[in-house]
Amino acid sequence: MTDPTKAQKIQKINGVRGMNDLLPADAAQWAHLEHVLRDLTRAYGYEYLRTPIVEATAVFQRGIGEVTDIVEKEMYSFEDRLNGEQLTLRPEGTAALVRSVIENNLLYEGPKRLWYTGPMFRHERPQRGRYRQFHQFGIEALGFAGPDIDAEIILMGQRLWDDLGLKGVRLEINSLGQAKERAEHRTALVAYFEKHKAQLDEDSQRRLFTNPLRILDSKNPAMQDLIETAPKLLDFLGQESLQHFEAVQALLKANNIPCRINPRLVRGLDYYNLTVFEWITDELGAQGTIAGGGRYDPLIERMGGKSAPACGWAMGMERVLELMKVSGSLPEAQAQCDVFVLHQGGETLTTALIIAERLRSAGIDTIMFCPPDGQLASFKSQMKKADASGAAYAVIIGPDELVKNEAQLKDLRTSGEQKAVALNNVVEAVIDAIVGATE
Ligand code: ATP
Ligand code: MG
Repeated sequence: MTDPTKAQKIQKINGVRGMNDLLPADAAQWAHLEHVLRDLTRAYGYEYLRTPIVEATAVFQRGIGEVTDIVEKEMYSFEDRLNGEQLTLRPEGTAALVRSVIENNLLYEGPKRLWYTGPMFRHERPQRGRYRQFHQFGIEALGFAGPDIDAEIILMGQRLWDDLGLKGVRLEINSLGQAKERAEHRTALVAYFEKHKAQLDEDSQRRLFTNPLRILDSKNPAMQDLIETAPKLLDFLGQESLQHFEAVQALLKANNIPCRINPRLVRGLDYYNLTVFEWITDELGAQGTIAGGGRYDPLIERMGGKSAPACGWAMGMERVLELMKVSGSLPEAQAQCDVFVLHQGGETLTTALIIAERLRSAGIDTIMFCPPDGQLASFKSQMKKADASGAAYAVIIGPDELVKNEAQLKDLRTSGEQKAVALNNVVEAVIDAIVGATE
């Protein structure tokens, strides 16, 4: 007979494909990036705004545009079983942020500089730098019409790469002009592609009448020659649009930010006008765009708010961390704690816990030895754990120390020196040692 307990081996449950855990080994790198980003937003006076992860599907249908990759095929949408509402896990941050700004009347007192961060969800084919849950950091400057703010948000990007120690991230920019100019260009573009219809792939044939500008964004190698000679939007821009574009470029030049004009840069989302830009690296293969953005003056009105200009950008945090990894600019791993406390159970355990709490109250990061099996462990094996923790000091409290009201303080990293200190003075002795070591 088969053993019934063995027959029912419990299956493990895996995470969802394309959605990753953040493991402790990588946590410090994320914390570092988040820290740099917070400093960046403070340096430019941007305020934090957090929206929910779930929104009404209409937020993205309207905010991103129906004829986009995201809305057409990448959204995680579902019906709320309890009330039938159509909901979507947010695929990007801007539409939801604008929804919140309108709902909370945030532009009532004038323009706003805002930032957000968090997980985004897109049903894409998972590969390096492309996940189904990924994280973005983004900024939005709402209510500013001039090219100065376009330049400001681009300068923020350059400062960010500098702060992160990233070299070789290049800037490509373009201008999408205004709706009327795009309409004229669109007519010319449709006529051009119709003339060469046989060369269009399936996606592009479909887009020809829905969103022909997006054909220019196609990555299909077979279509690149055709796209290269297509009518260029830049040639259709009027005086005002050209002036805005030139002013942005002049401000960038005055700040020594090189950029390349890429007439084919149209961006994936529907709501852009005037300036669009991307930050690109050659070090990440196909997923080389680490951030992108631009102006989207029509969006706020389109979402039901009072018309106001707007621009911003979003960055993929996984791609930036990957770039930091391949270019060796990730910070050194930091020790988990300053002090590791060793004991021998019973009274020594009680005392060790009290001392550990005192150390923490003094701002010293402290790990207590806790035997995994609940049994006592030798000081030798505890010392191995202390070493592995990265702690700079060990505080050792055994029965011999306890009768003398003492602990042993051991330097684990530099001298290896060990000395007795009165239990009441452990905190001071550790602080003295740390201060002494940094002098
Ligand atoms: P791509 O052309 O690579 O699909 P996108 O134009 O769809 O990018 P945006 O919507 O502009 O991307 O998002 C801004 C940034 O977010 C991108 O530049 C990229 O760094 C990151 N990003 C977008 N999609 C993903 C994803 N599926 N996984 C990881 N990062 C992503
Ligand atoms: Mg995409």
